[in-house]
Order: sequence, then structure tokens, then C-alpha cells
Amino acid sequence: DEPVLSVTTFEELNLHPDVQKGVYEMGFTRPSKIQAKALPLLLKSPPQNMIGQSQSGTGKTAAFVLTMLSRIDLNLKAPQALCLAPSRELARQIMVEARKMGKYTPVTTAEAIRDSSSNNRDRNTTFKEAQLIVGTPGTVLDLIKRHIIEKKNIKIFVLDEADNMLNQQGLGDQSIKVKNLMPRDCQIVLFSATYEDSVREFAGRFAPHANEFRLKIEEMSVKNIKQFYMDCTDEEHKLKVLSELYSILTIHQSIIFVERRDSADRIAKRMTDLGHKVIDLHGGLSTTERDEVMDGFRKGSAKVLISTNVIARGIDVMQVNLVINFDIPVKRNEDNKIVADPDTYLHRIGRTGRFGRKGIAINLVCDNYSWKNLRSIQEYFERDITQIKLDDWDHVE
Ligand code: ADP
Ligand code: MG
Repeated sequence: DEPVLSVTTFEELNLHPDVQKGVYEMGFTRPSKIQAKALPLLLKSPPQNMIGQSQSGTGKTAAFVLTMLSRIDLNLKAPQALCLAPSRELARQIMVEARKMGKYTPVTTAEAIRDSSSNNRDRNTTFKEAQLIVGTPGTVLDLIKRHIIEKKNIKIFVLDEADNMLNQQGLGDQSIKVKNLMPRDCQIVLFSATYEDSVREFAGRFAPHANEFRLKIEEMSVKNIKQFYMDCTDEEHKLKVLSELYSILTIHQSIIFVERRDSADRIAKRMTDLGHKVIDLHGGLSTTERDEVMDGFRKGSAKVLISTNVIARGIDVMQVNLVINFDIPVKRNEDNKIVADPDTYLHRIGRTGRFGRKGIAINLVCDNYSWKNLRSIQEYFERDITQIKLDDWDHVE
């Protein structure tokens, strides 16, 4: 039996038949565990806040999207359900999911991301009438301030990747400002796979009296992702190892994570020189370019996507069965020192192994710095990441 699925049925959740129809059409036969646990509480009336945590790829999106769809009064043509996500890529993905689930309902939707529409007058009417809105914090804040998004009827406010949305400088400030503009009785819903202690505390104040689902450290990483490291000497060697790997392994699609935009461009160029068809995505590209790269990757036009942390969270591409950390993720701690970033590590590797599927994560290490960071990550999750050499792969697959 699939470990993510629950024994409950969708019928028991009493969704509106039109919503139910959309869900079945997506091929969801039974709710996932988090959906079965969270939905009855989320749909209760009067509405209650929620701080939800479950592993990557376990179906958190449907838990909040089905709640958003269920809360909308169809007779009122105005914004009623608002969801914020940390990247345009994730906001667009959530919108696609919401439109599929709401396909048989008359619910109107709008995407609030930068340059999402060129014609401003159309855009204003769309936002005026959209009942369900998904966007990024800066754009949403701007549209509310300019009264393009009317806030007064919003009944449910969702933060996906909530810890990231409350933590990161810019996003945190903006999400908090948006939240402060929400009506007093608005239902606040937070979801993520990770909550650092300091963020958890803040989340409790952001969403008071919330129902909570927590994971223990040892439950946080998904069991179906095999984690390895490979020993390299320098960047050139890493590229050679990668090149070899792609010829040995059966790869459907793969994401290579790097720390910096310029590394993404440089490694993409080197991989192309080595004869691989790769694309790269980072925040330095134009919005049109970003959309083209992501849409192309989803269609399978390239097997390998090289990216920064911009797509470390939430992105769901079923075909991805390999994640490479070309660089081990790092962050600045309270003392402004650069240290390993276990939460980002978990989100990155969670781009594979979606919904019970198998996946492989490989960390490339080459010096004391990367060793130290990999060791911190193992210690944090109390889990060994084993070494593997190019010759050993026959035994793994
Ligand atoms: P999370 O946000 O927890 O990381 P997602 O919401 O992105 O996970 O869901 C992961 C994948 O599982 C998506 O492709 C989604 O369509 C699929 N999925 C979600 N719920 C179900 C379900 N009940 N049955 C089958 N597939 C599902
Ligand atoms: Mg998600």
C-alpha cells in the first residue's frame, strides 16, 4: 500500500460534488494522510486557523486548495480566498492545481504575479471579480494597496511554504503586511514541510489558536529518497562526475541545485559544452524567460534543469527522479556566519520522491567547506548520507 495514502475516502470529507468531480478527474482516488487529517478541521465551521506540517510531496496543496474552493460564496463576485507562495513558479503551479480542482465549479481565479498580464484594464476587472487569488507577496501587497484587489470579503488566507514566507527578510515583511490587511475573522492557514523553532513560535502568533500538525526531526525526510554523496576534487571534477552519472543512470528528469545565479549560468554552459541538453533558471532572468524555462521543463523539453534555491520549494514535477546538490545549501546564522542550511537541503531533495515515488539525491563534495556543511546536515537529521562511487551505481538501481 502507498505509504502516503489514508484509509479515509474523499466521500467522507463531504466536498461539494462539483469540487469532488475535479479531484477525481485529477486521478486522486483517496485523500493523502495530511489531506484526511487536515481537511475535516479546515472545513469546520466556525473556521479555525491551522499550522500544518507534512513531508514534501504528500499533498499539502490539495488540502488548502480544497478548503479555499469550499469557502467561496459563489454568488459574490469578489476576492474571498487568497494564497501566497514564495516564488512565481510555485504560485503558477498552485494556480494550475486550483483551476483543475475547480474545473467543474464556476469559481473565478486570478494569478497575482509580476507581469502576469500586459493589458492593465483587463487585469483590474479580473482581480475585481476573481474569487480565488494566488500570488507572490510583493505583487499581492501592491495590488491590495492600490485597491485593485478588494480585501474586505477575504475569508481564507493561506501561506504555502509558510516558514519561508515568515522568515526571509523581504517575503516575511510583505506577508505580514498582507496579513495585517486581512479582515479580522479571516481563517489563517499555514503549510510547510519545515518549521525552524524560531519561526514556529512566530507562526503561533501569526495564526492564533491554530490546529497544529507537527513532524519529529526523524520523520521529516521522505523515506523513499536515497541520499548519497560523491567525493570530487574541484568544480571541473564535479562536472566530469555529473557527465558520467548522466550516462550511467536511468534519468527521467533531474534538477541540479547551485548556490548562486552566476554558477547556474556557468555550469549550464559547461554541461552544454560537454554535450548535455540542459536549461537553467534563476531570479536573474526576465519573467518571460522564467516562465518559458519552467514550462519547457514540465513538458520534458530538457532532462536537466540547473537552478538556484528559487525552485527549491514546492515545485512538483513528477518525472524528476534525481536531485543533485552541486553546492551544499548554506545560510547566514544569527551571528552572520555562513552555515549549512538543513531546511533548504530537505526542500531541495524533496523535488524528487513525490507522492511515494522513488528518488535519488546526490551531494557533490570537494573540500573542507562542503564536507563540514554535509556533516552538519547529517547531524541535524540524525541520518547518514552514504558515499557512492561511479562504479557502485549498478547495485543501487
Ligand atoms: P506537497 O505540497 O505536500 O509537497 P503537493 O501538494 O505538491 O505536495 O502534491 C504532490 C503530488 O501528489 C502532486 O503531483 C499532486 O498532484 C499529487 N497528489 C496530491 N494529493 C493526491 C491524492 N490524494 N492522490 C493522488 N495524488 C495526489
Ligand atoms: Mg507544497
